[in-house]
Amino acid sequence: MIGIDPGHNGLNYTDPSFLDQQIWNGREYENCDTTGTETAGGYTEAQFNWNVATDLAADLESEGAGVVLTRSTNSGIGPCVDQRAQILDAAQSSVAIDIHADGGPTSGRGFAILLPVADGVNDGVVGSSQAFGVDVRSSFSATGMPVSTYDGTAGFSYRADLAGLNLTTVPKVLIECGNMQNATDAAMLSSTAFQQDAAVALADAITSFLS
Ligand SMILES: [Zn+2]
Repeated sequence: MIGIDPGHNGLNYTDPSFLDQQIWNGREYENCDTTGTETAGGYTEAQFNWNVATDLAADLESEGAGVVLTRSTNSGIGPCVDQRAQILDAAQSSVAIDIHADGGPTSGRGFAILLPVADGVNDGVVGSSQAFGVDVRSSFSATGMPVSTYDGTAGFSYRADLAGLNLTTVPKVLIECGNMQNATDAAMLSSTAFQQDAAVALADAITSFLS
């Protein structure tokens, strides 16, 4: 089973009190989720994440893999980030990916791979997640998106503040596929062609990791 978490949800913005509920992220309490970001033209991160996730699921299923997604539409609210981690853990995913796009500085470009830091719960998968991250960085360069100019080092950023990485018991990374606040990245992120290329790149990384 391959776990896919398309970040946020299309109607999260309609329910601030749902988003503000406090969840345990493995180290501290934080909000259930956020609305996600969007481009200057109003193309939402939730839609981008959903499109790449469903393209990726189709690619993997066509190769015979089983897939579990943390949400089934882009027209709902939630689930909270801790529940997303639990869904992928409960499925005993061989590997999992959280799909996002960033809201960074307008001058900043590129994709970043966020990696877990050992916290007890995830201790058994920190090393395998890092190995998967290397595969993702290698494959994702084929999309034409550069490595981030502002987040992390050489495309990698270690994050101890995210439920999806703190609570995982399966190998997992979170990818910020580009910066929605940057005009060049935004044009790419909102194009169907890039979204499909991103899904192919992630499928390739998953195949590499599992073989
Ligand atoms: Zn996001």
